[in-house]
Amino acid sequence: MVETIIGIDLGTTNSEVAVIENGKASIIPDQGCRILPSFVGVGDDGTVLVGEPARNQYKLYPDRTVKSIKRRMGEDVKVMLGGMPFTPQEISAIILKKLKEIAERHLDRTLRKAVITVPAYFSDAQRQATKEAGEIAGVDVIKIINEPTAAALAYESGQPGSRRILVYDLGGGTFDVSVVEMEEGVIEVRAGHGNNRLGGDDFDQKIVEHVLQCLREEHGIDGDLPARAMARIDRAAEAAKRVLSDHPFAKIEEEYLLERDGVPFHLAIEISRDEYEGMIAPFIEETLEAVHTALSGAGLVASQIEEILLVGGATRTPLVARRLQEEFGLVPRQEIDPDLCVAAGAAIQAGMIAGQEVSAVLVDITPYTFGTSAFDELDGLPSPHCYVPVIKKNTPIPVTKSEVFYTMFDDQETVIIQVFQGEERDARKNIKIGEFKVSGLSKAPAGNPIIARFELDRNGILQVTAVEKKTGLAGKITIDNAVSKFGTEEMAAARERVGALFGAGRAEPPPGHAHGTGAAVRHEFTKARALAEKAERMLEGASDEDREELVNLIEEINDAIARNDAAALSDPVEQLSEIIFYLES
Ligand code: AMP
Repeated sequence: MVETIIGIDLGTTNSEVAVIENGKASIIPDQGCRILPSFVGVGDDGTVLVGEPARNQYKLYPDRTVKSIKRRMGEDVKVMLGGMPFTPQEISAIILKKLKEIAERHLDRTLRKAVITVPAYFSDAQRQATKEAGEIAGVDVIKIINEPTAAALAYESGQPGSRRILVYDLGGGTFDVSVVEMEEGVIEVRAGHGNNRLGGDDFDQKIVEHVLQCLREEHGIDGDLPARAMARIDRAAEAAKRVLSDHPFAKIEEEYLLERDGVPFHLAIEISRDEYEGMIAPFIEETLEAVHTALSGAGLVASQIEEILLVGGATRTPLVARRLQEEFGLVPRQEIDPDLCVAAGAAIQAGMIAGQEVSAVLVDITPYTFGTSAFDELDGLPSPHCYVPVIKKNTPIPVTKSEVFYTMFDDQETVIIQVFQGEERDARKNIKIGEFKVSGLSKAPAGNPIIARFELDRNGILQVTAVEKKTGLAGKITIDNAVSKFGTEEMAAARERVGALFGAGRAEPPPGHAHGTGAAVRHEFTKARALAEKAERMLEGASDEDREELVNLIEEINDAIARNDAAALSDPVEQLSEIIFYLES
């Protein structure tokens, strides 16, 4: 029997341990949790706390808790923990010991050897300190490998050929980007850059600032809040951030957050993804600057990168993948859990050293994109057939994602949600797999938000729900076998059939259609309506000839608006603008 070697990702914020089981890398859970927060503390009774319990007490007892010790590795310093001095190696050793114990309990045997990952930029002294931490923990560190190398191994092990890969790693408190070259299984880091003071925790902080601003401006709550209240706001902000990765709105609700003049104050704030993305956009732009620095360090330009791998929990923020896709024209890969990818790569390396059969990391993913159609710009023209992907291809399942849409008209009573499978921008070229209606919407001006929620389970059952945000009124459809409905060839054939159907003529847009966030399309309708109203006011003073022309164009515009047909607006709007200009001058 080969000796088991464990793979360890000893992270700044979180750590994980993985091992090869039945030829595949698997992360070892501790009481159901696969992530161990890299926190070490001393409890009330003097016991050593590692992981979640230490993290929980950090805000309340910072003097009894140590976090982010990885940042001090290689330094000749001591940190105080519960009144006692410790070296960074000793604190790291406590985390390593815990990870070793988790693995031993799971495998029911004593383990001695490990592969540990470190950032590519770690100096010799930092690598040496990591080895020493292992020794203190009773772990023989047989190899130290770079984190981007481990990530590339997790994605690429066993793949033939050569590839240029960008590994974008955004964790809780650090950002690293590396350009990695893989040739016949050999992986080398060509260049890297980063910022070891930037990460998901900064995103939390932005939400915390937003909450404090609301407390100040809307409730007159100012000054230092009690530590317990601040700790609750911090946790709620992080939870809201996670929600915003999958949904367009997040609520921050904390009952009895504090007391004011003996009266309990309950916190209730809603934050939208748009607002949140505005807050964190400067951070993401900063990471992109680092990406370009790394690229030039490797002597490459963006178009030479063949694959982008997303690593680190904070890369679940949709803005990250979106901005990278805009910069590189590539869809970044994130099908392996970004929190666990480095540990999985360390386990693969460990398995290779131990002489085990190792296959690529297998995850359950959806091979198709699912979405709905909405009003937006398609090939530069407003169209009701614009495809809005909600669950994207290669997303691990089960998954739940939602997007917000808005009604088009004042007092719109009905929305029709069409569900498609496919990748085409024009929804009509995808496969329609379902449709349902939500009727009885409340009387509201255009722009009434409707949330479409897509839920795909492991068995390929897709549930789509549409909810009027204001009232909770909902409609729903369940599509069995959504994932296995079409194979690639069937998909191509179906697309052709559907394409042929639509080639003959334009399909009418569905009545009462909802539209996307496409402000441009909304704007076109509003502009056209305003123009028609203006023309109506000019009818009285116009000559017979002009009046007839005005009436015809007003009718044409109103018809197009009633049919929801934005494409039919441009001609009459242009002609009407010209006449109005001529009448006014
Ligand atoms: P890591 O250091 O790689 O474990 O990443 C931890 C960071 O990822 C923390 O800031 C987490 O709050 C963040 N994170 C975890 N899950 C999500 C999510 N679903 N959306 C956004 N950030 C997340």
